[in-house]
Amino acid sequence: MMNPTRTTCPYCGVGCGVTVEQDAAGAFKVRPDKEHPANLGRLCSKGTALAETLDHPQRLLYPEIHGQRVSWETATTTIASRFQQIIAEHGAEAVAFYVSGQLLTEDYYVANKLMKGFIGAGNIDTNSRLCMASAVAAYKRAFGEDLVPCSYEDLESAQLIVLVGSNAAWCHPVLYQRMVKAKKYNPALNVINIDPRRTQTSDLADVHLGLAPGTDAILFNGLLAWLAENGHTDHAFVSQSTTGMEQAVAMAKTTAPSVQAVAEQCGLPLADVERFFTLFGSTAQVVTVFSQGINQSSSGVDKGNALINCHLLTGRIGKPGMGPFSFTGQPNAMGGREVGGLANQLAAHLDIENPEHRALVQDFWQAPVMATGSGLKAVDLFQAIGTGKVKAVWVMGTNPVVSLPDSERVRAALAQCELVIVSDCVSHTDTLELAHIRLPALGWGERDGTVTNSDRTISRQPPFLPAPGEAKQDWEILTAVAHAMGFAAQFPYQAAHEIFREHAALSAYRNTGTRCFNIGAWQDLSAAEYDALPPTQWPLDAAGQGTVRLFADGKFFTASGKAQFIAVQARLPHAVRTPAFPFVLNTGRVRDHWHTLTRTGISPRLSAHVAEPYVEIHPCDARDQGLQNGGIARIHNGTQHILVKVKTSRDQQRGSLFVPMHWSGQFSSAAGVGCLIPAVVDPISGQPESKHAVVAIEPYQATWQGFLISRRKIASLTEYCTTIKVENAWRYEFASASPMTDWAAFARDLLCQDDGGVNWTEYLDTARQTYRAARFTGEQLESCLFISAAGGVLPARDWLVGLFAHDALPAADRASLLAGKPAVAGEDKGRTVCACFNVGENTIRKAIAEQGLDSVESIGRCLNAGTNCGSCLPELQALLG
Ligand code: SF4
Repeated sequence: MMNPTRTTCPYCGVGCGVTVEQDAAGAFKVRPDKEHPANLGRLCSKGTALAETLDHPQRLLYPEIHGQRVSWETATTTIASRFQQIIAEHGAEAVAFYVSGQLLTEDYYVANKLMKGFIGAGNIDTNSRLCMASAVAAYKRAFGEDLVPCSYEDLESAQLIVLVGSNAAWCHPVLYQRMVKAKKYNPALNVINIDPRRTQTSDLADVHLGLAPGTDAILFNGLLAWLAENGHTDHAFVSQSTTGMEQAVAMAKTTAPSVQAVAEQCGLPLADVERFFTLFGSTAQVVTVFSQGINQSSSGVDKGNALINCHLLTGRIGKPGMGPFSFTGQPNAMGGREVGGLANQLAAHLDIENPEHRALVQDFWQAPVMATGSGLKAVDLFQAIGTGKVKAVWVMGTNPVVSLPDSERVRAALAQCELVIVSDCVSHTDTLELAHIRLPALGWGERDGTVTNSDRTISRQPPFLPAPGEAKQDWEILTAVAHAMGFAAQFPYQAAHEIFREHAALSAYRNTGTRCFNIGAWQDLSAAEYDALPPTQWPLDAAGQGTVRLFADGKFFTASGKAQFIAVQARLPHAVRTPAFPFVLNTGRVRDHWHTLTRTGISPRLSAHVAEPYVEIHPCDARDQGLQNGGIARIHNGTQHILVKVKTSRDQQRGSLFVPMHWSGQFSSAAGVGCLIPAVVDPISGQPESKHAVVAIEPYQATWQGFLISRRKIASLTEYCTTIKVENAWRYEFASASPMTDWAAFARDLLCQDDGGVNWTEYLDTARQTYRAARFTGEQLESCLFISAAGGVLPARDWLVGLFAHDALPAADRASLLAGKPAVAGEDKGRTVCACFNVGENTIRKAIAEQGLDSVESIGRCLNAGTNCGSCLPELQALLG
C-alpha cells in the first residue's frame, strides 16, 4: 500500500484536491481531499470516477515520424532542424505552438519561453482562448492586470450570487454544491441565474432571467444606469479608486435608458428585471459569477466589463462576499495565463506589447531574439496555417480539429500544413490523425508540476504512476528540442521544481509592487519544499503567505492605480437568424463528460449519464420542424451538418437549440458541433462566439436503425453512429438513411471477418423487419447486434450489456439472447441519473411514486442516489417535480 498522494483533479477549473492511494491488490482509490480549500472534501461525478480512467487502453507510447517508431533523439533533432530550416526560409512567424489549459504550469512556462524568447515569435496560443480569454481582457482593462479578485469562500459569505452565462451545476459542480450548501445554511442568500436556457443551475435560483441570447451587456448596462440613478453609487470608492465612471454610466444610459427598455430588449418580464436590479442595489455582499456564456461571444470582453462596472460603481469588490468572479473552464487555464500562454501575453503577467516589459523578460531569460509583439490568436493561427503563412505547428495536449470553430477548415488547414507535430498522451484523436510527428506525453498521475485554479490557488500535481512506454513530460520534450536548437544553456532543466523556481523568480524580477502577480517568495524552494507546497492563493507576501482576496486596499494595477470603468456600447451577436437559418445554436458541456472525451469517454460510469450527442429543442419548435423526441435531427448551416438525437425540453427558448461540445470523430460519425460554429471572434480577446451560430434543423430520415455491443472497438458504422463505453465492451447506436437490402451480410461483414461466422447465431424476421445476431468466442459472448426498420422497437440495452460480464454465458441467457430480454423480466432502470450508485431514472420515478418520496434527502435514504458526489442533486430535484 503506497502513501496517499495529494494532488488535484485534472478536469475543470475548480481545481479540487484529491488523495490517491493504491491498495494491496494494486487498485487505485481516488478520494476527495478534505483539506484542500477548493473542495473541502467534495468531488463531482467526474472526479469520483478518476480511478476508472487511469489505465487508458489507447496510450501513445513511442515517438513516431510518419507512423514509424523513432528514438527520442531522432524525433527532437528532426523537430529542431525542421523548425530551423523553416525559420531560416520564412522567418520565425512561420512556426507556432498551440497548447492547452491541460498542461501544467511548468510545461507552459518552457513552451512560452522557447517560442517568445528563443524562436522569437509570439505564435504560442492555447485552447484557453476558447474558454476565458474575454474574462482575461476584461479584468486587464478594468484592473490593469489579469486579476480575479475573489476567493471561493466569497460564495459562502455573499448575500446575493448572480450567475450569468454559467451552468455551474454541470460545469463547476463542486462550486455549485458550495452554493447550495451556502443557501441551505443562509436562507437570506438570494441567487439570480441569467441564462437564455433554463439549466440545472436555475433550480437553485430565486429568479431565472431567461434573457434573449446575447443581450447580457444590455442587462448590465441597464443595471449600471439604474444603480447610478437610484442612489447606489459608493461615491468614496468611486472617487478614490476608479476612473471613467461618468462616461460608462452615460454610455449605459444610451442603450438602456429605463428598466422598461432593458426588459423589452432582453425579452424579460419587467417585474423580473426590477427584482434583479433592486436585489443588486440593496445587497452589500454581491458576487457575480460569469463563465463561458459571457466569454464565448463576439462582444465577450465588453460583457465582462459591463458587469465589472456594476461592482465598481457600488464599491462591491475587495471585501468578503463580493466581486466579479470568472469561473475558468480548464484545470490550468489560470496557470497558463501566469506564464504567458496566450499569444498576446508575456510571462509573469507582463505585457507583450510593452517594450520595457519585453526587455525585462529578455534580460531575465538572456534570450537572443524576443518576440516583437502579439502572435496569432487561436482562430487566426489556424487560418494562417490554412493559407500557408504558418508552415509548422506543434499542438500539445489539445484537439483543435474538434474544439475550434469552423472545425472542417481547421482539419483542412492541418491536412495541408508542411509540418504538424502533436504531443498527446493518447494515441487516437482527430488531430493526431493529421500529425507527421507524434510525441507520447505523460498524463495525469504521471507528470510533475503545479496548476492554478479559478481563485488563484496554486496546487501541486505530483506523479504517483510510472511513465508508460517512452512517454515524457511536455517540458522535457520542449527542453530536448531547445537543446537541439542550440539553447542548452538557457534550458538547463532537470526537474519540474527548477522550472517553477525560475517562474517564481521572474514574477519578482524588477517587481517594485507595480505587478500583482508575484510568487517570488518561492524562488529558492528546494525540491522537498516544492513537493510539500500547500495549496496557496497568489500573490505571496515576502514571508510566502498567500492572498485570499485582491483590492482590499482599493489599489489597482493600472498606470493610475485606479480601477477603470469601461464605457460599453452593447452589441448583439454577429450572426442573425434568417428564414433559411431560423435557429440560434448554443453549445456547452454535459455533467459527466470532459472536452473531447479522450478520458471520460473510456469510463462506463461517466458515459452512462448522457450516452449520445443530442440537440435540446423546445417541443413546439420540434413539432413545427417535424422532429420527434428521441429521433435524429440533421442540423446544418448551409455547408456543414451534424446528426444528433432530439431531446425536447421547455427549458429551451423557442428559436434556440443547445448541442453539447464533446463528441469527436473518435466517438461519433457526425456530431462534432464545431463545424457549425463560424470563426467569428471578439475583436479584443479573439475568443470565438461559440454560443451563437445560426442554423436550420430538420428530421434525419433514417430507414433503418440498431445497436451493437462488442468487446472489440470498431470503426463508425453508418452516417449516424455513436460509440459508448460500457462495462467490458463498447456499445454502438446507429441509424442510416442509405438503403440496406441484406442486414445479415452487413452484420457478417462487420463482425465475422476473422472466422467466417463459425461461432455465430442470427435471426431474421422479414415481416417485422428485424434482424438480430450474436457472435461467440468459445462460450463467451463477443458481440451482439440488433437491427430494425426505422421506428421499429429495439430491446433495452442494460441486460444485454450485463451479459458481457460473463466469461462463459449461462445457457439460459444464451437462449434468451436474441430475444433481447431475460426469460423472467427484470426492471429497466432507465437512463442513469446517479453515476456514483448507478441509479436510473425509472427506478427513481418508481420509488417516488410508490414510496411517496418528497425530497432529494428521502431519495438518498431510499436509493443512495445523490449521497456521494451530489452532482445529480439538481436532476433528482427535477424528477420530484
Ligand atoms: S468540480 Fe469535478 S471536475 Fe471540477 S475539479 Fe472538482 S472534481 Fe474535478
